[in-house]
Amino acid sequence: MNDLQKRTWAEISLPNIRHNYEAIRATLPAGCRFLGVVKADAYGHGALAVSRLLQESGADYLAVSCLDEALELRRGGITMPILILGHTPHEYTETLIDNNFTQTVSALAKAQEYSAAATALGKKLRIHIKLDTGMSRLGFLCAGGYFEKGVENVVRSIGLPGLEPEGVYTHFAVSDEPGEESEAYTRAQFKLFMDVIAAVEERTGFLFPIRHCANSGAVLHYPAMDLDMVRPGLLLYGYGDAEGKLGLRPCMRLVTTVSTIKHYEAGACVSYGRRFVCQRHTRMGVLAIGYADGLPRVLSNRCSFAAGEGFAPQCGSICMDMCMVDLTDRPEVHVGDEVEIFGPRSDINTLAAIAGTIPYELLCSVYKRVPRVYNE
Ligand SMILES: *Cc1c(COP(=O)(O)O)cnc(C)c1O
Repeated sequence: MNDLQKRTWAEISLPNIRHNYEAIRATLPAGCRFLGVVKADAYGHGALAVSRLLQESGADYLAVSCLDEALELRRGGITMPILILGHTPHEYTETLIDNNFTQTVSALAKAQEYSAAATALGKKLRIHIKLDTGMSRLGFLCAGGYFEKGVENVVRSIGLPGLEPEGVYTHFAVSDEPGEESEAYTRAQFKLFMDVIAAVEERTGFLFPIRHCANSGAVLHYPAMDLDMVRPGLLLYGYGDAEGKLGLRPCMRLVTTVSTIKHYEAGACVSYGRRFVCQRHTRMGVLAIGYADGLPRVLSNRCSFAAGEGFAPQCGSICMDMCMVDLTDRPEVHVGDEVEIFGPRSDINTLAAIAGTIPYELLCSVYKRVPRVYNE
């Protein structure tokens, strides 16, 4: 921790990511491929570092959200297949092909645009067809009254020149949520997915080489839905396995330091808005982390961080670059000491629940000015 100014940093454990990868791998049926989701800078863990590890470890595929994220990986020397989950404008078809990317196709009109662009170049674009089975986001409509039209549009898309349909996938809305209703919804999504694939095969004789639908929730709760490839994100980073089934290990520890400590009399007001008033003689620490680092302001006055031998309650509005903690009961904590925002001692799930959000959002929010420090 010498060249990082000892302000605030995120420790990333590469051994833990490798452990999680292997633990998930071990649950897969023989022949099932592993796609690691590394979008949003690998959920804040650093897309290039995580992708290099997955490439070395023998993962089969990576997925990112957009072309820029995919290019970052190729420029960094990642040679394995990369699926772009989001939309890429057809003007970039040549970039997609020349970098050997796999593009998601979510509607007939888009397939036609890519096909025209690829044929004009005399090249082929590898695609995965995305079906909307109930997430109501990207994907060919195929639920209910849309079934016939959906199948027809997929059939027309995969028959277009200049396209190489390698895969088909869908995304679950509630595979990570408990309860009968969520289970019924997930099973219905899966059935619709399989029905469309069967109808396409019946009409064309075409079998998609890679069928995939399992996000983290499904990998954990619906092993029968692994099919030809699984697509976990959150599990890889060690979260989302509340029951501890897979023995996964969290991979990020967000750490800050105490910038200064001061003593205030009862009645002193703390931070913007005077939303905290000292009720006693208070030994107040200033931490070098604020909402611009990814500590949500909504947590103000509502959380504690691991400091010294226990926890220190956060006091007053969280500022852009700093926040305050009450160290009166933590006399062992001094200026320069580390304070853990989340990690092994402070569960990110608890913090996310207080903030009214999910761990995904806290991980992705760790801002780029927070250096990532990799434990090998
Ligand atoms: C983000 C994403 C995933 C990974 O989701 P997790 O819940 O993190 O496992 C899988 N598939 C698609 C299409 C996604 O957008």
